[in-house]
Amino acid sequence: MHVVIVGNGIAGVNVAAALRNASPEADVEIFASETHPLYSRVRLPEVISGASAPEAITFYKDEWYEKRGIRVSLGSSVVSVDRAARTVRLADGRTAGYDRLVLATGASSNRPPIPGSDARGVHTLRTLEDALEIRAGVAANPGSASVIGGGLLGLEAARAMKDAGAREVRVFEIFPRLLPRQLDSAGASLLSARFAAMGIEVVCSAETESFIPDSDDPLRAFAIRLKDGRVFPSATTLLSMGVRPNVALAKEAGLEVNRGIVVDEFMRTSDGAIYAVGDCAEFKGIVWGIIPAALEQAPVAARAILASTSLIAPELAVPYAQTVPKTALKVGDVELTSLGKAVLSADEESSGRYEERSRVWEGGRRYEKYVLEKGEGGDASEPVLAGAILYGSKAHQAQAQSLMGKPADAETIASLLAD
Ligand SMILES: Cc1cc2nc3c(=O)[nH]c(=O)nc-3n(C[C@H](O)[C@H](O)[C@H](O)COP(=O)(O)OP(=O)(O)OC[C@H]3O[C@@H](n4cnc5c(N)ncnc54)[C@H](O)[C@@H]3O)c2cc1C
Repeated sequence: MHVVIVGNGIAGVNVAAALRNASPEADVEIFASETHPLYSRVRLPEVISGASAPEAITFYKDEWYEKRGIRVSLGSSVVSVDRAARTVRLADGRTAGYDRLVLATGASSNRPPIPGSDARGVHTLRTLEDALEIRAGVAANPGSASVIGGGLLGLEAARAMKDAGAREVRVFEIFPRLLPRQLDSAGASLLSARFAAMGIEVVCSAETESFIPDSDDPLRAFAIRLKDGRVFPSATTLLSMGVRPNVALAKEAGLEVNRGIVVDEFMRTSDGAIYAVGDCAEFKGIVWGIIPAALEQAPVAARAILASTSLIAPELAVPYAQTVPKTALKVGDVELTSLGKAVLSADEESSGRYEERSRVWEGGRRYEKYVLEKGEGGDASEPVLAGAILYGSKAHQAQAQSLMGKPADAETIASLLAD
């Protein structure tokens, strides 16, 4: 039974490993556009800063594939799928047949059509090549660098550019504060202050209008103009504005595609011989775009493939049951855990159903907030913990996680805040 996997990211590789671990009869072949063996995208900021060389962030070298009997063709993009013939065609003209096909094509960085954004000096960050280019850009022009998009990835990258030697570093965020989904305004101002102390300026409510070309080299951007008229120098700019699933191959093959490639609970697409996993897959309307989802989906697809070809018993195919996102994050050395209703909407705030208890520790390096939800009718006798923000320390992470959705009396919360 021949399985072709398109994509050598964490999702594709884990499908391959799960197939080979469960059945020696699964003949597995991976085609990968990138020329580098599997590496950690999470660690790309380390390549930008110079803290790690590309080899140091490589997960699996050739021996890993050889040992498991998995064939991998790097630098081999699949350009089309012929579902009737069950073949894929590669960019170099080769074709390969399959019994089952797995699309693990991942996602690409968004590149909004901001005027001038196609100029040199404006980057996105998804691949090792991107990280190396950003590092080279900062080394060549260390005067100024910036990130457009103050999400987690953008903040990490800004710090990496600072560590790489950029003198002036700015983060431009369109919202009035950083991480609006994970942090309230108190936490966000502490985080902005922390970044200011690192020499990184956070500019909020900042919408980019255009990139200004260098007068000596019009094909290179050297500054950013905001919609409010302000202009900031930026020799190297990273657009960190989200990702979009790579669905072109699936779309052209006539598979059902929404934002991602639509799959059922066995990661099967609208064609029963084709599966999709990881950042390119959409299950029940959700494209997760995070590693835990890829790691949970990969064995589901592998077992379903083996069961569908009678290589394992059908009852061993276990359905995927959605991913619970991890909430613990690290932003430029700052531990941050954001749980449940960590940030209340204006309606929730004025509803009278919630009460917040918080504390900022001395020096603003630590902040905790607990959101209590009162019982029906605003009954304060049995409030439950509906959300929490733990900034700057992981000390109460386990306790807060275990209290979520459970009754949390004033004394328990007071003892956490007194700690
Ligand atoms: C800088 C950065 C930091 C991140 N940090 C975190 C984090 O802290 N936590 C977290 O959970 N997630 C994080 N992510 C997201 C995480 O990396 C992704 O969720 C994960 O990589 C998804 O794996 P994947 O295998 O689905 O896709 P990918 O890793 O994108 O791999 C897909 C592969 O398929 C290849 N491909 C695409 N089309 C074709 C084709 N037609 N033919 C052949 N090959 C093809 C691509 O070149 C790519 O190599 C981060 C991402 C980045 C960029």
